[in-house]
Amino acid sequence: SKRIGVLGAGQLGRMLALAGYPLGQKFGFYGMSEDEPSALLGNMHLHSEEADNLKALVDFADVITFESENTDLAVVREIAKTTPVYPGERSLEVSQHRGKEKTLFRDKGIPCANFAIINSLEELEKAVDVIGVPSILKTTTEGYDGKGQFMIKTGEEVEQAWNEIGGRELILEAFVDFHRELSLVAVRNAHGEHRFYPLVQNVHHKGILRYTIAPAQEVSEEVQKQAESYIQTLLDELDHVGVLTLELFETDYGLFANEMAPRVHNSGHWTIEGAQTSQFENHVRAICGLPLGSTEPKQPIAAMLNIVGETGPVEKVLQKENAHLHLYDKAERTGRKLGHITILSDTQDNLFADIKSLNDFLPL
Ligand code: ATP
Ligand code: MG
Ligand code: MG
Repeated sequence: SKRIGVLGAGQLGRMLALAGYPLGQKFGFYGMSEDEPSALLGNMHLHSEEADNLKALVDFADVITFESENTDLAVVREIAKTTPVYPGERSLEVSQHRGKEKTLFRDKGIPCANFAIINSLEELEKAVDVIGVPSILKTTTEGYDGKGQFMIKTGEEVEQAWNEIGGRELILEAFVDFHRELSLVAVRNAHGEHRFYPLVQNVHHKGILRYTIAPAQEVSEEVQKQAESYIQTLLDELDHVGVLTLELFETDYGLFANEMAPRVHNSGHWTIEGAQTSQFENHVRAICGLPLGSTEPKQPIAAMLNIVGETGPVEKVLQKENAHLHLYDKAERTGRKLGHITILSDTQDNLFADIKSLNDFLPL
């Protein structure tokens, strides 16, 4: 049994603990307040309002992991001097900076949008001339759920884009004309063993993931293998230990990488009921040095629906024979992920009928 210290105390940590307790592990969380999804779940819950709490977490833990790519790199580096941190600091450093991430993709031959780093309005004007429109301007760090982004549709919008999100380091990315958004969740342990879940399809609304279809339909074996080879390259290059997720665009010219996350991912939540081993359990196994579990789906097709903003009529979920409800114990707030629903099905048609019956949970 290991004591796992988690930097962060949100729903990802909560689901990590729910998967890790049956394996006999213990969890401590380091959050921001007493009122977070993992607060009452940990063997230990600490928050940053009190000094020395971080030290208490490190003292508690045999191994440290983190919930977010926005975790403070300096803190992780300091902890790593005394306690193993998985994934390691390189995975964190690269995936918390869109420029470093895209540079790695490019260096490793993984197709991605053309991009430029921007530090001034003049640099932005020059980059728009080269990259063209439409293009997407993003903060290099700290963005999530589509926050900190501006889509530049015409040359006239350049100054407005700079005024809205400029004044800090930005990245301009060519707009990728994609058919679908896919993602691949994979896991690697310290022995260099890899496992891959099937590619899934993700549908966003206003920058927020609303639902995932798992596996994505009509994906050839070749495309699955291509995506696996991209993520395996990243896992090995970073000496990554734990779960890594790669977001991909499917285009006429093949797969393009969008971004990666050095952690369990919202598009992998379906694995809790839908796969032999969930992404959370596999992350725990990986960081504890245990053998990895099977990533095989248990049913032909599944869906994950996010519950966003308001909780909604959850009794409808509980009344369905093939649906599972997860609530994260968070207060309602516009655009906030409060929970998710997993639906397991035998055919695509039946799955879409079930999704339709739960359309209270989807945006119009
Ligand atoms: P997440 O919540 O997944 O971490 P994020 O805020 O880090 O999101 P991205 O994933 O980079 O942001 O972008 C959010 C969404 O915007 C993407 O899922 C995609 O729909 C769209 N998008 C981002 N970059 C591009 C691009 N270069 N071309 C076309 N669409 C894009
Ligand atoms: Mg992101
Ligand atoms: Mg994304």
